[in-house]
Amino acid sequence: MYQCGNWVKGEGGVREILDPSSATIITKVTEATATQVNFAINAARVAFDSTDWHRNTALRVKVLRSLANLVEKSAEEIARIETKNTGKPIRESRLDISDSIACLRYYADLVECKEVWEKEMGDGTISRVKDEAIGVCALIVPWNFPLLLGIWKLAPALAAGNTVVFKPSELTPLSFIKLAILAEKAGIPKGVFNLVLGDGKVGQALVEHPAVDKVSFTGGSKTGQWIYEQCAKHIKRVSLELGGKSPLLIFDDANLENAVDWAMFGAFFNQGQVCVASSRILVHESMHEEFLKRLSNRLSALIVGDPLDEHTEMGPLISQGHLQKIQDYLAIGISEGANLYFGGEQILENHGFYITPAIFTNVKQDMRIVQEEIFGPVITVQSFSEEVEAIQLANGTVFGLAAGVLSQDLERAKRVADQLKAGTVWINGYHTPHIEAPWGGFKQSGIGRELGPDGLSAFIERKHININQ
Ligand code: NAD
Repeated sequence: MYQCGNWVKGEGGVREILDPSSATIITKVTEATATQVNFAINAARVAFDSTDWHRNTALRVKVLRSLANLVEKSAEEIARIETKNTGKPIRESRLDISDSIACLRYYADLVECKEVWEKEMGDGTISRVKDEAIGVCALIVPWNFPLLLGIWKLAPALAAGNTVVFKPSELTPLSFIKLAILAEKAGIPKGVFNLVLGDGKVGQALVEHPAVDKVSFTGGSKTGQWIYEQCAKHIKRVSLELGGKSPLLIFDDANLENAVDWAMFGAFFNQGQVCVASSRILVHESMHEEFLKRLSNRLSALIVGDPLDEHTEMGPLISQGHLQKIQDYLAIGISEGANLYFGGEQILENHGFYITPAIFTNVKQDMRIVQEEIFGPVITVQSFSEEVEAIQLANGTVFGLAAGVLSQDLERAKRVADQLKAGTVWINGYHTPHIEAPWGGFKQSGIGRELGPDGLSAFIERKHININQ
């Protein structure tokens, strides 16, 4: 753990950190006790209240840029750490690292050129609108993009002038431990950035602590709901990036081969363990059979294996528990009467947590496999005949994180996009986040937005000062 500028041994127990491709131990880490969590929060409190960190924009910009440069220098090492700890193919980890570097630089640039809004109000007064940091922020992230999702919070939180206590997932702390080492080298002042390790109990202690002013959480909807309730008790600021069940709509004029490409990428990137994974494919009835045939041919040729191998396209799932959860959903789908059209077999490679990608057909909208987030390489494929039906199916879950629309008729695609209840809609594409554009969910997929100027606003209190001269 890194707290108040010191590396400290956790006294809350030892956790083995596993390589999911072989189920072997990479290393062991020590986790925080409640007292140590309190200490970290207190360090962040003191750093916020007693230093000029939140007033010194030039220092923050310098630290963020220096951190970006250091991450860049260690990019390959961090990518390998990420792949070893998560099982994601090395090429995907490299993308995460370069996006993280870009994000650090983006928020440094954004605060550097921020101006105070000022205006004569016509009644002899002048109004100024000024952005201030919120205070101490608890940043809690899941295991699927440990570094990238962490940076999506850390970069704007620090850029805005907050101090933070960061908690990675108990399964994947390694890349953020490395990040903390680099942050120290980058000259981050004592207590501004604290790293605590541990599971949900440590997260819970962070959320409940009265000295934490803001909680920014990415993770499961149930956890998010609990956090929302706790924050309500103290009107604590809160951002929630939660689950999804995102549809990919393939219209009859879409290029079928491209549609297969986007479905592969949308659904199976990072083994489908992606909040915005296109886990529900809605395809026009005229292409349904051919689409299924081509998709399953492509999946048969998918290279599943060692994630450190440059050719690997799909690695293992994150853990034995998660593999079991996916297998349970396969059984649920079958028991609900869906047809397991392709895949879903466990691969017993090196004792890792591998499974082949699975496609369900003959599904009904009210089935659990259509309604609930599975968070793995399992998709449902439904057909539709009319545009209005496709939109209805697409919007027919409690989630609203993302969606994709494939059609060569851009007018139609835009018309459909306008009617989809989703925070991000990709037209003729899927999955690419843009640092300058907002990211977040409609409905039960979350509250608030990350990335872009909205991502910075999430860590800001806006103050109006009216001066009667
Ligand atoms: P999770 O909710 O189990 O855990 C997420 C984090 O919260 C972990 O660090 C965990 O230790 C911590 N935590 C658990 N219980 C807590 C509590 N009571 N109080 C505070 N912290 C607690 O989720 P997970 O299984 O790690 O991640 C998968 C979920 O994350 C999926 O639902 C996925 O859709 C979601 N996700 C969302 C986005 C997004 O941008 N919307 C991105 C990635 C993942």
